[in-house]
Amino acid sequence: MKEWTQEKINYVLHRLPAGTFVYRLRSLTERASADYYLCVQRFQNHVKSILQPAEYNFLTCPTCDTSLQIGHH
Ligand SMILES: [Zn+2]
Repeated sequence: MKEWTQEKINYVLHRLPAGTFVYRLRSLTERASADYYLCVQRFQNHVKSILQPAEYNFLTCPTCDTSLQIGHH
């Protein structure tokens, strides 16, 4: 899918302090107000699922219904 090919180059794989991988915008200067993380699982299926803050130190993916740890305890 050509559109997705162009879309995905805007994102880079990013490792959270806990070792969890997410996708993040490559350039935060263009859209500085839109700093967010995307679910890796969904990203591989060409879907941008924005991770939401859950309980302390965790992000949750509303699509996968999984929790990702952000940092160490
Ligand atoms: Zn997900």
